[in-house]
Amino acid sequence: MKKILLLLLTLIFVVCMVGCADNNEKVENSTLDIVTSFYPMYVATANIVDGAEGVTLKNLASPEVGCLHDYQLTTNDMITLENAEVFIINGGGMESFLDKATSAYPDLKVINASEEIFEGSSNYDDDGHLHSSEHKENSHVWVSISLHIKQIERICEELKTCDSKNAEIYEKNKSEYIKKLEELKEEMQTEIAKLENRNIVTFHEAFEYFADEFDLNVVAVIEREPGTSPSAGELAEIIEKISNGNADAIFTEPQYSKTAATTIATETGILLYELDPIVSGTLNKDAYIDKMKNNLEVLMEALKNE
Ligand SMILES: [Zn+2]
Repeated sequence: MKKILLLLLTLIFVVCMVGCADNNEKVENSTLDIVTSFYPMYVATANIVDGAEGVTLKNLASPEVGCLHDYQLTTNDMITLENAEVFIINGGGMESFLDKATSAYPDLKVINASEEIFEGSSNYDDDGHLHSSEHKENSHVWVSISLHIKQIERICEELKTCDSKNAEIYEKNKSEYIKKLEELKEEMQTEIAKLENRNIVTFHEAFEYFADEFDLNVVAVIEREPGTSPSAGELAEIIEKISNGNADAIFTEPQYSKTAATTIATETGILLYELDPIVSGTLNKDAYIDKMKNNLEVLMEALKNE
């Protein structure tokens, strides 16, 4: 009888051990596979998940794509999304391909970093009609440090609920990164406040929120959407504004052709500078801060008091 009892106990022990080993394996193998839509979302998320165990992070659009205006998903993108659990987007209409991704992968958890920013400013007019795409919000929110901080808070909160075991590290990383961004914003505000010249011409409408944050006036935009060259009339209008002394510098963007801006500069004698809307570059987590500091240097040089 004792022997049978011993045998039974041994059996229970073995079953238990196998079961536990199985569970342990599952815990160790559980990963969170995150995909970000484009460069600024990647850099933000890389800061939040830094050092978190079992997290993979990939960026969808290759870094040279720049802004996602009119971006079409490739076959490789679909494979990347198929293997992802979480897809982090900028929102505000930047990812016009989103419907295609969510209908192909209904289980994919989408984190819209700008959800709270655009909340209340609904896309429907008083009659309940959806606004057409040309009336959509300006989606370049990450170019404002304050709004980018809101995006980072949103991404962090959502990641904490998807992956509670890493919640503490996400929270800690987020706080440290936001502290650095607040310092950067303060430094930029202090420096830019010294400038008397505040009128600028930008390449596309990426710098609207940036200009708001630093009290700059965007007097003209060369290309409303990148790739759409200004008409002869629009060019003449920009040239007139600059000739009338209403703009102090033209800022091109590293991602796009400088042809139109060069024509304007030749006509007016105004100097060209380059501001980076932080949509391309190497996938490294310090990129946002480094590129913003560089933007500050460029602005100070371009608009320095004569
Ligand atoms: Zn853009």
